[in-house]
Amino acid sequence: MNILVTGGAGYIGSHVAKKLNNIGHHVVVYDNLVKGHREAVLTAKFVKGDLADKKLLNEVMQSEEIEAVVHLAAHSIVGESMEKPGKYFQNNLSNGLNLLEVMVSNNVAYLVFSSTAAVYGEPQEVPITEDHPTNPASTYGDSKLFFEKILERYQQIHGLKYVSLRYFNAAGADHSGEIGEAHSPETHLIPIVLQKALGIRDKLYIFGDDYPSRDGSCIRDYIHVEDLADAHILALDGLIDGMDSRIYNLGNGEGYSVKEVIETASALIGKEIEAEIGPRRAGDPAVLVASSQKIREELGWKPKYAALETIIETAWKWHKGGGFNGND
Ligand code: UDP
Repeated sequence: MNILVTGGAGYIGSHVAKKLNNIGHHVVVYDNLVKGHREAVLTAKFVKGDLADKKLLNEVMQSEEIEAVVHLAAHSIVGESMEKPGKYFQNNLSNGLNLLEVMVSNNVAYLVFSSTAAVYGEPQEVPITEDHPTNPASTYGDSKLFFEKILERYQQIHGLKYVSLRYFNAAGADHSGEIGEAHSPETHLIPIVLQKALGIRDKLYIFGDDYPSRDGSCIRDYIHVEDLADAHILALDGLIDGMDSRIYNLGNGEGYSVKEVIETASALIGKEIEAEIGPRRAGDPAVLVASSQKIREELGWKPKYAALETIIETAWKWHKGGGFNGND
């Protein structure tokens, strides 16, 4: 199939594009490179473009005879979304709508959407299932939830078929070491821990150790980015095979604390990674763990790299190799 991957030069998108390519699809990555990396697009065709540019989007959709879309292009920094809500609604909603309109006018009926656990907000119970109430604590979470609502209407009115994947904590890197996580600025725990281990970051803070958790630090559900990428392929296959639209959580179902991540990385690398206790980060729930029972049962998805050691090991291989820009 001819598949458009928006945001395919980003962390998760580049892994998705690689897998789709590997199984024989013609993949076109559409990315504005504001956060993405040109080097992350390995074998897919690359178009530098913004979702705000409806004309270009339309041209690409037509010339490449696109049949399905995996939509990952979005702003995704929770903290920033609470300072610049307009930026998040503009890009994640308004520009996302351009994509849907162009899809509809070109009769492209299949969409896999990159959503987030941030739609749930502070959990009432863990593990979190898909029918847990949604109450985002950030504009970022709002923007993804509102887009899911838009998808529901497009399905009803235009017959668009979609799967929305609510990611928990994407982590790790492709086993090849060719692509991995490279955000600038980096805000995610595992890359920060590894940058500290490499000596290219001065300080590592544990954001709060007085949470109601087993060791006082926050617990998150880290899912290997290749397992995440596999889920996109299963979702797309499901839609093409006639499955109706639906929403899935994606996590390992196993939570690890910030301290456990640091200890596991230290053991793996063979040296102590020093961390200091810092204040809590605003908006961080104590525990976020997914139930991914639904996608396991319905699509047969199963994480291959569930162990925290494996997740960190692949990330370490990537970071040690220097990343795209010398670990920026
Ligand atoms: N965290 C931390 N120190 C850091 C970065 C993150 O203690 O330098 C914590 C953060 O508070 C959260 C967990 O690590 O509890 C995972 O954070 P991350 O930003 O990687 O993902 P999030 O859960 O926000 O999506």
